[in-house]
Amino acid sequence: MNLLRSPSAMLAISLATFSASAGVPAAYADRQLNEELLREMIEFRSSAAFPEAIRALLDRVAERLVTAGFPTADIEIVTNDGIANLVARYRGTGDAEPVLTMAHVDVVDAEPDAWQEHPFRFAEIDGYYYGRGTTDNKAGAATLVANFIRLKREGFTPARDIIMVLTGDEESTGNGIGHLTSERMDLIGAEFALNTDAGGGVYDDNGEPQAFNVQTSEKLYQSFELEATNPGGHSSVPRQDNAIYALVRALGRIEGHDFPLELNDGTRAFFERSAQFAHGETGELMREVAREPFDVGVAERLADDNAFSNATLRTTCVATQLAGGHAENALPRSARATVNCRILPGHSPDEVEGVLRAVVDDESISFRRLADAFPSSPSPWNGDVAGRFDVLVSEMWAGTPVVPSMSTGATDGLWVRNVGIPVYGVSAIFESPGDVRAHGLDERIGVEEFHEAVEFWYRLLRSVAS
Ligand SMILES: [Zn+2]
Repeated sequence: MNLLRSPSAMLAISLATFSASAGVPAAYADRQLNEELLREMIEFRSSAAFPEAIRALLDRVAERLVTAGFPTADIEIVTNDGIANLVARYRGTGDAEPVLTMAHVDVVDAEPDAWQEHPFRFAEIDGYYYGRGTTDNKAGAATLVANFIRLKREGFTPARDIIMVLTGDEESTGNGIGHLTSERMDLIGAEFALNTDAGGGVYDDNGEPQAFNVQTSEKLYQSFELEATNPGGHSSVPRQDNAIYALVRALGRIEGHDFPLELNDGTRAFFERSAQFAHGETGELMREVAREPFDVGVAERLADDNAFSNATLRTTCVATQLAGGHAENALPRSARATVNCRILPGHSPDEVEGVLRAVVDDESISFRRLADAFPSSPSPWNGDVAGRFDVLVSEMWAGTPVVPSMSTGATDGLWVRNVGIPVYGVSAIFESPGDVRAHGLDERIGVEEFHEAVEFWYRLLRSVAS
């Protein structure tokens, strides 16, 4: 990340901005706009089943940007596979390469009957905004649009173009960003990218800020379908060979297999910084595992200590779906299982498939990949990057460590990293670990947490583009 201004110069700018507007903290000056945008977006049922709602939402965003003074020539709706995506450009002086900001406006669908409040009617209750997409990822989309409008309103001329991409199929195919990275780099080419759909703040058990995660890498998402087949027959005359038993044996062997433990720069920094607030044995193990040289014995103990550390230290593969047999009174002719793997950066699906085949050690079990995964390399976490986030976070959440993190889930960032653009996942939304409701029921975001995230992004955009 090429720094246009030093972190200390950056601090001066933000303090100036803070006190400029006649005593009203600028941070909260646009709460009304923030809330309006989030409400508007939530009320579009923009799931894969309703592509017209995705289009309508993006048309509304384009309308608002034009009203705020952005030229129509700098706003483009790119439709791919029938799904709309929006790319808007906030033109700067060109002193530096553009920065790309990312969010997605599609959501995992939701059944109104299963929710307490209607998932597609925005509601504010007891300090929370409710609705499908409040955390994943319409808060992010509203954050980008709100700041484009606010910065434009303030007459801000960035020193580099700021590009906003709002995709429409991150939760389904991800082909939107796939198309943009393969066919439309003219629209989204940038020096680095900031993604609202990853990272985020973590509260401790007392609801105090504990860590500010910045996602620097993603594990690779690859699923395999394993199948055992058999001639079948009458179940009154069972034989030694049986498709279900063969599959169960294979799954048992996979269950018993652990991939090697390892660290990369990002995960080493993660444990190093997380050790500052992790309690007791866990904290001690995190401190030790981050030390050079890498001690596999310590890593083993940390992996046993908690599942998240285990998933951060190694590739994991787990059975997630099972089906088999065709009749109650017939020997099964086939049995299938889905094994979902989350592969550490630097390793390939080929390598993992090879390991699984060796572990299963049964030629009669076939392997089929469910969709091809795309490896993406971790984004650099160096002094410049870390320093920038440290300054901004210390202003708003003093004493909260910034922690580079590897997410076990996949985002659109994966495609962008793949074309050589470093991506930093920074939703800036604080949540309690036990209250993560993305993709689940009664999704919600804290009212203050939302507005603070918008404010954080306001400062971040000013900092990277001043
Ligand atoms: Zn998402």
